[in-house]
Amino acid sequence: MTSTRIPLTNKHHTGHESIVCIGSAVFGGGNFSVIAGPCAVEGFAQLYDTAILVRTAGASCLRGGAYKPRTSPYSFQGLEQEGLKILQEVSRSIRVPFVTEVMDAGEVDLVEKYADALQVGTRNMQNFKLLKRLGKTKKPVLLKRGMSARADDLLLAAEYVLDGGNQQVILCERGIRTFEVCTRNTLDLNIVPYLKSKTHLPVVVDPSHGTGVRDFVIPMALAAAAAGADGLLVEVHKNPLEALSDGEQSLWPEQFTDLMKRLKLLLPVVGKTLMRPLSQHES
Ligand code: PEP
Ligand code: MN
Repeated sequence: MTSTRIPLTNKHHTGHESIVCIGSAVFGGGNFSVIAGPCAVEGFAQLYDTAILVRTAGASCLRGGAYKPRTSPYSFQGLEQEGLKILQEVSRSIRVPFVTEVMDAGEVDLVEKYADALQVGTRNMQNFKLLKRLGKTKKPVLLKRGMSARADDLLLAAEYVLDGGNQQVILCERGIRTFEVCTRNTLDLNIVPYLKSKTHLPVVVDPSHGTGVRDFVIPMALAAAAAGADGLLVEVHKNPLEALSDGEQSLWPEQFTDLMKRLKLLLPVVGKTLMRPLSQHES
């Protein structure tokens, strides 16, 4: 028998947009935050140098994978716990919170000890054991859309986390598989107004995985903001040519600075406020 109760993700549950905070990065309710950093943590210097650059440009949250879900078992799999330690050290030293991926329900205990927010990757959007476990964490969850999942499947995946007791969920469009192969994925910006019409949860867009092409990231990031997104997830590497994963879609730091300048001009037009990183002296 199917239940007729109103889903917890439904707009009518709260009557207003939910605000989800990852430290000083605020998503929803008119607030727009940018999460930036490398695809993977490769070492202390790589993360620290990239983190300083993205923070200076205006990112209010850092990203970096310690556990990497790679399509090939022979690709770099991440530094695992060592990567979490590096993320935490860098994040504390520059006072920017961080989000990192957790791939398995059994690893949540460890990852939640370090991370400010937990990312569920596209390959795990329907890992129901993981979603149920994340319903019990106190940390916000960044839930990426499955590459072949419909918008309503994404909402039902979020429902698992909310139903488990964790209301802090941010939805993320990261591109889907279609017949079109001129880019790595097809960034589905239709989903932004669709989700905003259905749910109170904040919606962010990842134009890096959505396009797979460095030079397409800025236009699609701006398009996402214009479409009503509450934030962005962008891959940036201090030297994308040396990146161990997703270098071809990672922005050069100067490109990221350029994106942030353009966003500062665009966001007031669409009624959003850009959250800035805390200064070193603010509490
Ligand atoms: C990532 O954010 O680096 C990542 C692996 O993303 P996705 O799960 O969207 O491929
Ligand atoms: Mn990546």
